[in-house]
Amino acid sequence: MFDYLVVGAGFAGSVLAERLATQADKKILVVDRRNHIGGNAYDCYDESGVLIHKYGPHIFHTNSAEVIDYLSRFTQWRPYQHRVLAGVHGRLGPLPLNLGTINTLYGTSYTSFELEQFFASVAETRDEIRTSEDVVVSKVGRELYEKFFRNYTRKQWGVDPSELDASVTARVPTRTSRDDRYFTDRFQQMPLHGFTRMFERMLDHRNIKVLLNCDWREIRHLIPYGEVIYTGPVDEYFDCRFGKLPYRSLEFAFETLPTRFHQAVAVVNYPNDYAYTRVTEFKHLTGQEHAKTTLVYEYPRAEGDPYYPVPRPENAALYGRYKALAVATPGVQFVGRLATYKYYNMDQVVAQSLATFERIMGRRRHNVALPVEVSATPVHRNGLHGEHAARTPQLDSR
Ligand SMILES: Cc1cc2nc3c(=O)[nH]c(=O)nc-3n(C[C@H](O)[C@H](O)[C@H](O)COP(=O)(O)OP(=O)(O)OC[C@H]3O[C@@H](n4cnc5c(N)ncnc54)[C@H](O)[C@@H]3O)c2cc1C
Repeated sequence: MFDYLVVGAGFAGSVLAERLATQADKKILVVDRRNHIGGNAYDCYDESGVLIHKYGPHIFHTNSAEVIDYLSRFTQWRPYQHRVLAGVHGRLGPLPLNLGTINTLYGTSYTSFELEQFFASVAETRDEIRTSEDVVVSKVGRELYEKFFRNYTRKQWGVDPSELDASVTARVPTRTSRDDRYFTDRFQQMPLHGFTRMFERMLDHRNIKVLLNCDWREIRHLIPYGEVIYTGPVDEYFDCRFGKLPYRSLEFAFETLPTRFHQAVAVVNYPNDYAYTRVTEFKHLTGQEHAKTTLVYEYPRAEGDPYYPVPRPENAALYGRYKALAVATPGVQFVGRLATYKYYNMDQVVAQSLATFERIMGRRRHNVALPVEVSATPVHRNGLHGEHAARTPQLDSR
């Protein structure tokens, strides 16, 4: 008999399995319907031997020392500062918009002070900030909005920013300095031997059994267990009885080239050209030495694996109905991004899972602060990239 059935071997499931097994001596069965552990953070070697992230680039960054301390039990790290360029009119400029971007694009030689004045002169006045378009044009004006934000957002979300909630680009990350780091978090580092190796270490315990290629619905009535940690889609748990929660998806196209490096930085965004949004070269992230290099092109899709919850009021209301059911379901903890219909970064899921463990143990922590970035978050997630968490100052209070 297992004490816990953990559905999903991503960050949420793996952290809770590890904590419950090692700290509470519980017997755990972890089930995942994919053929690997690690969830969306899974990495592996492709046919050429290049380490790739199967579900798109995952860059680890956090302001939480607690999260770093916890994960450091399972991995060493390599320092990595993420840098992104945007291709606009055949030129590459740094993102977030900074002094270098504007001077490159316009052939100017502004100082920081002059750039501040420039932004102020082009910003449009808005009485009310309602949409994502309002957020951006009220900060950097229409021209930069059109060049860098509008089309990227349309590709990423399939709708115009004027139809997207303001929360999507809640804060426009512009800098008047030359700082071209994508994030400004205190800790910016990648697992030295990759994410999958880290997950293997987390799950390597005599109390933990892992069953892959198995949907939990296939075994839920066959295997005896006590409680459930559920990290799959919350609507699916309840057979989508109120309808499906909408997600935006991605298709990934990988390409290996017979050259050491293809682009100057890990990620190049293409706001206006091509059907893909961005191109990632993994070796910048992983630090791997290899004669070849592998890139991934991201094509946003309406259908496919659930990646980004679509931030619209009607979807929040629909999630609210599922959440009410989840709260009223005894013996099941709903944890992680799919089970709480929130775009969380990896560090936020780790923090949420550690807090859930404390709650299960009766050491309840109310309003535990999730790691909050002080960096380029919202445009990354919504206007430009789409892989970033909305600012969520506190844990879901369930
Ligand atoms: C394209 C992309 C880029 C990202 N980039 C970053 C980044 O740069 N930095 C960052 O911090 N975060 C990033 N993230 C977010 C990161 O992926 C998540 O925070 C993290 O993976 C969430 O972990 P999780 O355990 O909640 O969910 P998941 O990793 O999705 O794991 C859930 C697991 O549950 C399994 N499952 C679901 N239903 C069932 C079922 N019925 N039976 C069995 N198994 C089931 C799934 O197969 C999956 O493996 C990115 C996400 C995406 C999509």
